[in-house]
Amino acid sequence: MSPPLKVKGAKVCTMYKALIKISARIYWNLERNIPVFRENFKEEVNVPIKATPPCDLRPALRFDVELTRKLLLEYFNDRKSAEVLLPPHEEIILLNKIPYPDLADEIIVEGQVIGHRFFDIRRYRWRFKPIYAGVSKILDKRIGFYAIVNLPRITRLYVIHRSDILESNLPQTKGEYVAIETKNGIYQGLGKSIRGDRIKVLKAWRKRRHPEIGKSNSWREAVEANRDWLLSKENESIKFLQEVAKKLNIPRDRIFVSFSGGKDSLATLLISTKAFGNIPVLFNDTGIELPETVEYVKRMADKLGLELICASGDQRFFEGLEFFGPPARDYRWCCKVVKLAPILDAINARFKEKPVLSIVGQRKYESIARAFSPSVWTNKWLPGVISTTPIQEWTALQVWLYLFLEKAEINELYFQGFDRLGCWLCPASEVAELQLVAKRYPKLWSRWESYLESFRKAHGLDRDWIRFHLWRWKELPGDQRRLLGDKARKSLEEPTLDILIVKGEGVSKVSFKHSYLGELVLRVPPSDLVYLVIDSLKRVDNFLEMYVENIRVTCDSRFYNIYTDDDEAVKKIATSLAKITIRVNYCLRCKLCVNNCPSNAILLDESGQMRFLREKCTKCYICNEKCPLLSFLSIQTKVLDKLE
Ligand code: SF4
Ligand code: SF4
Repeated sequence: MSPPLKVKGAKVCTMYKALIKISARIYWNLERNIPVFRENFKEEVNVPIKATPPCDLRPALRFDVELTRKLLLEYFNDRKSAEVLLPPHEEIILLNKIPYPDLADEIIVEGQVIGHRFFDIRRYRWRFKPIYAGVSKILDKRIGFYAIVNLPRITRLYVIHRSDILESNLPQTKGEYVAIETKNGIYQGLGKSIRGDRIKVLKAWRKRRHPEIGKSNSWREAVEANRDWLLSKENESIKFLQEVAKKLNIPRDRIFVSFSGGKDSLATLLISTKAFGNIPVLFNDTGIELPETVEYVKRMADKLGLELICASGDQRFFEGLEFFGPPARDYRWCCKVVKLAPILDAINARFKEKPVLSIVGQRKYESIARAFSPSVWTNKWLPGVISTTPIQEWTALQVWLYLFLEKAEINELYFQGFDRLGCWLCPASEVAELQLVAKRYPKLWSRWESYLESFRKAHGLDRDWIRFHLWRWKELPGDQRRLLGDKARKSLEEPTLDILIVKGEGVSKVSFKHSYLGELVLRVPPSDLVYLVIDSLKRVDNFLEMYVENIRVTCDSRFYNIYTDDDEAVKKIATSLAKITIRVNYCLRCKLCVNNCPSNAILLDESGQMRFLREKCTKCYICNEKCPLLSFLSIQTKVLDKLE
């Protein structure tokens, strides 16, 4: 095995170990047929739910229940068989996200994993695949596709030949899933039908015992059974928040809740108002929120009688596309432009005194990064803001049961198949999620698709770049490459600023991506000072002066003249001027420079014009550091003695 693969494998292994470490413990009560959070619940028989780490189970809501039942029906092509795995009386169906190239969940019924539902990118549709308890039931009842094989054991990737199959019901088509059991009844597995009535084993395991429950259940029962435990956790969270505010010495009038309209922030909102009474709610309308979420947030603030602080990304996402191109998982310029920037601006406008305490609904089960995040933290992009979460230790199931217990009004989008709310074209979305947006919101989607189409044409990309939403990565990950092959081969570059400086008499160039920005004319006067003239930078105005150190800079109405005999300084000055040119020409009015300047030396008036207060500037360059236009810009500077 080659060294890079070893490193990657080690990383995956470490990640998996970390996931196991943080994995949630949720139990199934066999007598009541409901999930419980305590192993010793009422001294009844409670068994741990064995699901893939981190086991952040969530309820299947209306859309998910319908989709799951439909997929089972499609797989079995027979209602009765489908109902063996998913009886009609089961109200509680749990889903657990699992790693896969697109959206995929374990389906948990009666506390046991019966199968996976996953979005098959190649076939471009949702599918069902039985596993563990599902495979057992198929074999017990001899329903669907199955095979009893004359082998002592089965292992992954083994190909079972027709002659080894003792009893079966095999599919006519290739690629269908088949439940397998060895004749001795010790091993079970799942295979795929391949040519010649053979089966390729995809997964095999020692046969497990799956208790038969056969009792109906309901979410109401689950909420009631867990009521005391949920209230005790709520109480712990309230106390935690009060202690944080006390310890940090932050008064109540400097505390607010960040509310996105999602379930976690709703639970956080309810807990926070119990901890501090009526505190303001901050909502960031990124400009790419689904309309239901915007309406829902406003309605909730109104209903609860809370002040709503509205941050707004306005149209900046679409304006930013011209400069940045589509956002990607490895190129999240959008988070700075439509999230951090408007949030900081709204906080600064509302709270004159700092620090402020922002209460957010963040949980450790959401990601590895969040699992190891402290429960009180600061963010370098949000100066003066301390954040905390009262639900760090909560699982998604706990959040849902708490919301059911509180009879809280939940964003309707959850019942329509959306699990992750927020920006509707987030590059972190999976194809299945984007398909749902395209179907439900054709008008919104056509705007995005026509942008992607023009970008695709301009960059000579394949149509599959849009079909498989490959814009979500700059550098495509291995699983997408493996799945999509040649279709996935193209990677895109970040915006690049090329500066070519030619010493002496000559024409130097500044180019940004493909658009020509300006012209540098370098002359060496008799004094041997390098005379740098940058034309077409008229709009830069007096910004230039902040880059002056011991180098003389003059400017008239047309030119900037920089005098130095140092090549490196020429490079530095030319780069700085080019950066300023980018800021002036492509400014998105995000105000990150304004809100981060420690000297209040930059003002942005209502018409979007930037004013620079030269006398206040300390030349710290924080404004350049914080400007999102420059954060993702790769700059290449070259100094030549003569034109090549
Ligand atoms: S951030 Fe620093 S360099 Fe930029 S305007 Fe403010 S003081 Fe000047
Ligand atoms: S110059 Fe300032 S307002 Fe404009 S994009 Fe950069 S940080 Fe935002």
